Amino acid sequence: MARPKIIAGNWKMNCGVAETENLLKSLIKGIKPKKGVTTVVCPPFTSLQTAARMLKGRSIKLGAQDLSENENGAFTGEVSAEMLKSVGVKYVIVGHSERRQYHKENEKIVNTKASRALQTGLVPIICIGETLQERQEDKTEGIVTQQLEGATASFESSELKKVIIAYEPVWAIGTGQTATPEMAQKVHRFIRNILENRVPELANSIPIIYGGSVKPENAAGLMAQPDIDGALVGGASLDAKSFITILKSA
Ligand code: PEP
Repeated sequence: MARPKIIAGNWKMNCGVAETENLLKSLIKGIKPKKGVTTVVCPPFTSLQTAARMLKGRSIKLGAQDLSENENGAFTGEVSAEMLKSVGVKYVIVGHSERRQYHKENEKIVNTKASRALQTGLVPIICIGETLQERQEDKTEGIVTQQLEGATASFESSELKKVIIAYEPVWAIGTGQTATPEMAQKVHRFIRNILENRVPELANSIPIIYGGSVKPENAAGLMAQPDIDGALVGGASLDAKSFITILKSA
């Protein structure tokens, strides 16, 4: 059975309330529900409530870009899984390379955040991927193994089957430099093999999506690959026309 496709837009630190309203108006108008395709948008925290109100009862799902590893309490500036759930969030990005790079998130933190999401009923989109230097040093497989195993270390198979993995080579994020479909497929197949060794009965159903300068021009080629189950889209998700074209390639 074909795995459904997931196209998620990571808006990063863009779109206040007015821009969120404008972008979502265009997306709502341009996106028709399509069987086997899930669309997710991940606005910044301050726009989540506006987005939740606009998306209520629609096919576009709401995601967040991060969550706290803690449940509640004295953690100034943090936003908990429960808080996200209370505004209607269903998905949450965890371990994005920008969080790993600028906020020093390590495997343990990523694992705790992903667990927190699952315990709260949110679907974690767990990001893994190598830097340019690691690729040049032929360390890609070692890095994705370490990141995947670290992020899901404590998970039973009942938890693993609820996650989405996003392979995002760091050198392709926001650079305009995309992995070729063949390069991406090779790593996606490798990731699926790791999952197969761990949970043979589930490996075929866990979505592995690709992220890194996905654009209307390259989306179809990437998503035609057998182990690429969709895309995590940064820059191009801020332009309604581009995001809708990417969705149409799914
Ligand atoms: C991302 O932020 O996850 C991403 C893939 O960004 P971009 O599409 O801009 O490379």
